[in-house]
Amino acid sequence: MEDCLFCKIIAGQIPADIVYEDEYAVAFRDIAPAAPVHILVVPRRHVSSILEASGCPGLMDHLLEAVANVARAQSIDGPGFRMVANTGADAGQTVHHLHLHLLAGKTLGPMA
Ligand code: 5GP
Ligand code: ZN
Repeated sequence: MEDCLFCKIIAGQIPADIVYEDEYAVAFRDIAPAAPVHILVVPRRHVSSILEASGCPGLMDHLLEAVANVARAQSIDGPGFRMVANTGADAGQTVHHLHLHLLAGKTLGPMA
């Protein structure tokens, strides 16, 4: 999709620190990390949010498989991590290409 930042990263048009790729998903480090490990896992296919993903059979299955692969590769599967999908304005979603934040590398504390 034109003018989508994450589509451009996926296409290699904008540089990113990519840590994982498969047929359906790409994962790269967040440019403004909110934790020692902060990775964004995104579907290659442009879907704007978790709401749109619900209409795409298998998409979340593939994305969660990618999350598990990233977690193992980054060795955060043992100590743990937090997965966040900001959806819409009240959640502060700024990039309208579905992305799962993986936050890890320290004790994160309660969410709310
Ligand atoms: P949201 O606020 O939509 O849930 O998350 C968007 C995330 O994308 C933010 O954490 C932000 O730091 C990250 N981000 C914004 N622009 C870029 C970029 O150009 N490269 C990378 N790697 N991350 C970005
Ligand atoms: Zn996109």
